[in-house]
Amino acid sequence: MVGFSYEALREVHLEPTTRCQLRCPMCPRTGADGAPNRRVPRADLSAATVQAILPGELLDGLEQVLLCGNYGDPMWAPDLLETVAYLRASRRGLRISMHTNGSGQPSDFWTELARQKVRVRFGIDGLGDTLSRYRRGAAFDAVMASAESFIEAGGKATWQLIRFAHNADEVERARARAEAMGFARFVVKDTGRFFKARYYPKRSDGHRDYTAVPRLPVYDGPNLVDHLAPPPDTMKTPRRSFHKSRDAGTIRCRVIDTRSVYISAEGLVFPCCWLGEIYASDRADRPGQLGDLLGDDGWHALRAPETPLRDIVEGDVFRTIATRMACQTMHEGRLETCARTCAVV
Ligand code: SF4
Ligand code: SF4
Repeated sequence: MVGFSYEALREVHLEPTTRCQLRCPMCPRTGADGAPNRRVPRADLSAATVQAILPGELLDGLEQVLLCGNYGDPMWAPDLLETVAYLRASRRGLRISMHTNGSGQPSDFWTELARQKVRVRFGIDGLGDTLSRYRRGAAFDAVMASAESFIEAGGKATWQLIRFAHNADEVERARARAEAMGFARFVVKDTGRFFKARYYPKRSDGHRDYTAVPRLPVYDGPNLVDHLAPPPDTMKTPRRSFHKSRDAGTIRCRVIDTRSVYISAEGLVFPCCWLGEIYASDRADRPGQLGDLLGDDGWHALRAPETPLRDIVEGDVFRTIATRMACQTMHEGRLETCARTCAVV
């Protein structure tokens, strides 16, 4: 990568909060026991902080602000509407998008988002009770009420459905319902998160059986309450081998084209949300991560607005991240997250 440039930025991905009421089993805010991941701090980006990090002259050059994040649902950010009002007032043509589970907030919240021309993507992974097999704690009727309020107020909504074995037969009925309700788009996604070694059963010789269906255990406290599996047709997808991408292939950074930057609810700035996933329980304390590069004292160099966004994006840490992308192996300095996410083998 040539380098990260503040002037070239076209997209900002904000994590307005780390709060969420759900316990989706594959979410990094959910621990292996189904309880909230205890490493994740409670944090919110206030509207004043967003204004300090993203001044008007930066917003003038942006095409999009995405309200999403790794650890929370934007609808629970106390200043979300104030933040949106600031972004919209700064630039009428700015595309503002938000991802949410939609199972909460009163109707006037959704009406206001529509009025501010925010595009909202609702994560609705099934009809009726099916929704909460994965979106644990979500209420289907509440999501429908939120979407209806938003759409009736003129909002452009997307229905996103992640396919699992348990909802694959509902896709077409969900698509029909989305059309009938006036959703602008219906998006079906498959997740690659099933295809990790630990979700495959062990054979009698102790090795994992990669021809079997991976099964994700779902816990409620100490109790195993469910298993989730991918839809049968995705089993044709070969399991990604991380061991190959650690030390081979080329890193094709996905934020080069979008020229985007990620800002966490703590005000920490990263090139992308993948590098910003610093509390994921399956990656903690492993070598080759961003934490190694920063050391114990390095985080303050990434914290805005104490350090101006320009200084972070064009500073030493971002420069080193870009340089490390050219390394051929993790031993040479390739970051594990860059290898996992963006290596093309
Ligand atoms: S709704 Fe989003 S933030 Fe909340 S638990 Fe599910 S994936 Fe995580
Ligand atoms: S993980 Fe690394 S290579 Fe991939 S988008 Fe992020 S910074 Fe770029």
